[in-house]
Amino acid sequence: PIRPREQLEAVESVCPYCGVGCALTYWVDRERGAISFAEGRPQPGSQSRLCVKGRYGWDYSASPQRLTKPLIRVDSSYPKGPLSADVRGEGTGKRATKDTRPGKDRGRKPGGLVDYDEVMPHFREATWDEALDLVARRLKEIHAAGGPGAIAGFGSAKCSNEEAYLFQKLIRAGFGTNNVDHCTRLCHASSVAALFEGVGSGAVSTTYGDVANADVAIITGSNPTANHPVASSFFKQARRRGTTIIYVDPRASTVSEHADIFVQLKPGTDVAFYNSVMCEIIRLGLTDPQFIAERTSNYDALAATVADYPPERGEQITGVPADTIRAVARAWGEAGSAVIYWGMGISQHTTGTDNARCLIALCSITGQVGRPGTGLHPLRGQNNVQGASDAGLIPMFYPDYQGVTKESAREVFERAWGTSLDPNRGLTVTEIIHSILEGGVRGMYMLGENPFLSDPNTNKVRKALSALEFLVVQDIFLTETAEFADVILPATSYLEKDGTYTNTDRRVQLGRKVLDPPGEAKADWWIVQEIARRVGLDWNYGSPSAVFDEMVPLMPSYTNLSHANLGSSGKLYPNPDPEHLDGTVVMFDERFNTDDGLAHLVPAQWLPPKELPDSEYPLVLNTGRLLEHWHTGSMTRRSFALDAIAPVAEIYMHPKDAADRGLVHGAMARARSRRGEIQLQVRISHREQQGNVFIPFHFREAAANLLTIDEVDPFGKIPEFKFCAVQVEAVGTT
Ligand code: SF4
Repeated sequence: PIRPREQLEAVESVCPYCGVGCALTYWVDRERGAISFAEGRPQPGSQSRLCVKGRYGWDYSASPQRLTKPLIRVDSSYPKGPLSADVRGEGTGKRATKDTRPGKDRGRKPGGLVDYDEVMPHFREATWDEALDLVARRLKEIHAAGGPGAIAGFGSAKCSNEEAYLFQKLIRAGFGTNNVDHCTRLCHASSVAALFEGVGSGAVSTTYGDVANADVAIITGSNPTANHPVASSFFKQARRRGTTIIYVDPRASTVSEHADIFVQLKPGTDVAFYNSVMCEIIRLGLTDPQFIAERTSNYDALAATVADYPPERGEQITGVPADTIRAVARAWGEAGSAVIYWGMGISQHTTGTDNARCLIALCSITGQVGRPGTGLHPLRGQNNVQGASDAGLIPMFYPDYQGVTKESAREVFERAWGTSLDPNRGLTVTEIIHSILEGGVRGMYMLGENPFLSDPNTNKVRKALSALEFLVVQDIFLTETAEFADVILPATSYLEKDGTYTNTDRRVQLGRKVLDPPGEAKADWWIVQEIARRVGLDWNYGSPSAVFDEMVPLMPSYTNLSHANLGSSGKLYPNPDPEHLDGTVVMFDERFNTDDGLAHLVPAQWLPPKELPDSEYPLVLNTGRLLEHWHTGSMTRRSFALDAIAPVAEIYMHPKDAADRGLVHGAMARARSRRGEIQLQVRISHREQQGNVFIPFHFREAAANLLTIDEVDPFGKIPEFKFCAVQVEAVGTT
């Protein structure tokens, strides 16, 4: 029965999906032990708004496919990893027919997801003690034989700040290595590298809501309607109130229809475009000389570099008419306040750091930082990618971005954690995959990540995960990566535990326990602590808030925050005092966080992407997300409403490209690159430029990363998910 609201219990939490971090309230029917519905809650950022994922995407937590007991592999001779044809790129691209949606066949195999019937016979159920003892023993053995460098861990941006902190502490203090990373390496690592170098902080300088105070906003390399839907609603609302929106992207996504100037540049030409804009701004005399003189360094070198990119040259490289470049330069240069929001179209390139350097330079030479309606905002992807990075889940930084190679920082953490620490920077996600293949890393602890589907060049990742001596995976479902595991530990979803999450605005919010975990599943922080104890660490945390209380004195940015004072809406960091209403919206009003307080301008020359189209592979592949799905689909594809809206893997093609290949809307096509091939359905899309195709990466049965290239940005080590060469052919029609 559907009970009226008065008979339900309201539990305040945070949406688990994107970095917008909308505040929501779950209305819980305690008699059924289930959520009845979710609604947005007032909070200064999201202001009660929710998108389809936040409103309807929570029922996956009640899926019959949840892992409920620890599992140990029984058949070591059986090949590890997904074996079915779909993930090998040999499938039909169609989802399986068996259906586990509520009210339907409750078998164990939903379309397109892991085949439990095939995989489970190779595991046996175990007690928690048996599984945890085995994990600790095997990791210790590998550590003893191969040294600290033989161990690595991937944490998760879906877990809380407290869990991220404990995980990196375990890898660093328990195994003596900085080989710990997470999916920030796949989304904004290059943005963070550029921001650190440029302004001394990897976080945003202002909020998404501050767009309301901007005369001009550039939205670039982002499809916010799909990826940050509620933030996108504020962008569109700002335009109705008078903000000029300049949208810069190779794809004509829906926000292009709301833009005053739409710049549809060729993919991979961002540096050339922004250099041209800066060249024109300088020519027009629209810089802010006082800001440049007092608050920046290296302006002359920047000006000399961008002088080589007059709008005519910009047009040659980017395909954007020189007059459009001039119009953007004038609009930006004449604005009283101007702000930039960017996404992975900027960061996921081998020139990702250079792309972000250009955005920092554009804001800095025009004095558009440090006031309301100005600044730099990389729209963070996952719900807690900002917080997981803040908490030290990255190989070069302890919590709060204190460098592991900096002796003074190391001493602080050695004192706090009571052990000596590795003085060398650890390996990143992509470097760890490479190291496994070279025989370096031999044992891994994977918490909530699914690199088999999320990392580039799936066939290479398959080889690496298969080559590990020991892999423990901690997750809520049997993911594709768990199919490689020796031990699988059943974890809790965010609905089943307390913890803090930090959104793209730097807003730290408390997610509260809504439901009991299924079966014997345990909270991630509890599992990490049990493994830590078994490898010899004396940990006695009684709750996530106890962990948070240890973190805060070690993380100056989080000063004056506690579980007790976060309240219903959370607080932005930095927070000037414990009782402050909402923390700091605009950063850098007087100085930047760099050692000298100045913004460091770093000139960048345009470089082409690593794999250009040719006669054999003539199309450019761009990968990304859909509004209805989330990353590798382990949660959203098990959500009834979301899966019903977007059940099928599709390739988005320009009508001419499709027609040239005899493809019509709904036809099956084969997409192939030098690394693999997949089959999937054609969607004719006027949003693509001719010569470019788009494939979302959520679908196992048409895994986009079988095609992608694993070349990385030299600074951020982020892969070039936004550009590789492919061919597409017809394989028949549906
Ligand atoms: Fe959740 Fe993001 Fe949608 Fe907000 S915009 S409801 S945080 S997915």
